[in-house]
Amino acid sequence: MTQGVEETPRERTKRWQDIAAKKADELQPKEAICSSCGKELKEGEFIAVQGKILCAECYANELEASMDMGAADGAGAG
Ligand SMILES: [Zn+2]
Repeated sequence: MTQGVEETPRERTKRWQDIAAKKADELQPKEAICSSCGKELKEGEFIAVQGKILCAECYANELEASMDMGAADGAGAG
């Protein structure tokens, strides 16, 4: 038998919701720095990709780069 105060399921859920909300705040900062070009970005101006923060320009560059890699892999010598 365990002693002490037991959490009710409702209390436990509330606690987890609080933790989740806090984590979400940490994961979505209001301001960030582009990890590629170092530009300062405000909320909505940056995209988080694979743990990196990128500005729209660098995100577009990454997309192009990954598309190039995919094309090189998939396309034949047409
Ligand atoms: Zn950038």
